[in-house]
Amino acid sequence: MVETGYEGDEAFRLEVRSWLRDNFPEPLAYCNALIYLNDAGVAAGDDTFQLWRKRVAEKGWGVPTWPKMYGGADLSAAEARIISQEMARIGAFNPMRSNGTMMLGPTLLEYGTEEQKRRHLPGISDHSERWCQGFSEPGAGSDLASLQTKCVDMGDHFLVNGQKIWTSGADHADWCFCLVRTDTSNKHRGISFLLIDMKTPGIEARPIVLISGSTHFCEVFFNDVKVPKENLVGAVNEGWSIAKRLLQFERDSLSEGRGEAPSLLPLAQTHVGVDAEGRISDSDLRVRLITNAMRADAYTRTVQRIAAEAKAGNGVHDGVSALKNLGSGVAQVRAELLVEILGHGGLGWSGDAYAPEALEATRAWLHSKCFSIYGGSYEVQNNITAKRTLGLPG
Ligand SMILES: Cc1cc2nc3c(=O)[nH]c(=O)nc-3n(C[C@H](O)[C@H](O)[C@H](O)COP(=O)(O)OP(=O)(O)OC[C@H]3O[C@@H](n4cnc5c(N)ncnc54)[C@H](O)[C@@H]3O)c2cc1C
Repeated sequence: MVETGYEGDEAFRLEVRSWLRDNFPEPLAYCNALIYLNDAGVAAGDDTFQLWRKRVAEKGWGVPTWPKMYGGADLSAAEARIISQEMARIGAFNPMRSNGTMMLGPTLLEYGTEEQKRRHLPGISDHSERWCQGFSEPGAGSDLASLQTKCVDMGDHFLVNGQKIWTSGADHADWCFCLVRTDTSNKHRGISFLLIDMKTPGIEARPIVLISGSTHFCEVFFNDVKVPKENLVGAVNEGWSIAKRLLQFERDSLSEGRGEAPSLLPLAQTHVGVDAEGRISDSDLRVRLITNAMRADAYTRTVQRIAAEAKAGNGVHDGVSALKNLGSGVAQVRAELLVEILGHGGLGWSGDAYAPEALEATRAWLHSKCFSIYGGSYEVQNNITAKRTLGLPG
């Protein structure tokens, strides 16, 4: 567990600690939070998890820096970090993490009209409104600005036709924040940012099965979908700047908590065994475990330091692409080490012959492959770091 790397408000820290002691349901400690936070997962219906979500929503601590009127707690960035540090300290997690809280919410706070904020932010903050991200298309992934989903101004509404792909949680989402093409003559300045109600006639979401066995994302088809004019965020053809800002929020939130997973050492001691001096008996595995733990710790401290340095702004900093890659790498190596520690158990993908934790570890390892793809691929993040942080030519 990583202790705090910078000063905080100690009185507030004690208040958070006490609240968590009274309100965090112990059975959720150190669980694989992803099984709850994935909207497609049945585990999200679990009563204990729902109770935890309700308590955090009432407190406004799912989105602590948002104004109270939108479901937040009006706290500073430093106080928000104390909450997440104190949660990590006891193996708790933020149950409100979603596309809405991590991506759309902060974007609407900057670019939305007052009416859009009042309409959507409270539902995002208590999770009664679930969102999916309609950005990628079959011909537009890394080169996102090539997107072709067509949007025509029909006078009293917009008409949308086209296809999105890899849309996480689209089959469960109430709404989609979507990039559409409003001008074919200008690649970047021909894109607009729309909020689309997924119940609108003409929308079809078809789930895609992943290598891990889950159906995390979908293909989404739009056939003559009518979108009210008031659902446009920003101006027509100005959606690319908004999308870039949203992607920064996405990458920033993806780097959160990556280095704070529980230590694998006790598990390795049990499954692999220890030598006469009490060390993990496989020296090669031991070195790799320690290396990963040290990288995770260094990574977490770097995230904290950069966040503290950026606290004068809104918390999103230039190093977000580099951190996304570092955090993904640490988490991917950890997932692989866990499977290795489990030995034969780590080979199971389904069936009664394997313990549920072993099956979950295998699937988590397979799932970890996507950490370096979603939110922008590894290579593309390196390009961004080279250009924006290191000032190298494009
Ligand atoms: C689990 C998961 C969930 C996702 N959820 C969503 C979602 O909810 N909404 C959404 O819109 N999208 C989502 N995505 C899509 C994701 O954003 C894209 O997969 C990603 O941006 C890469 O695009 P692509 O798949 O089209 O690959 P491509 O862009 O075709 O890239 C293929 C390969 O080429 C490399 N490459 C491409 N361009 C360059 C370059 N200029 N320099 C060097 N290498 C390059 C890439 O790094 C990659 O290795 C999700 C993806 C995954 C895996």
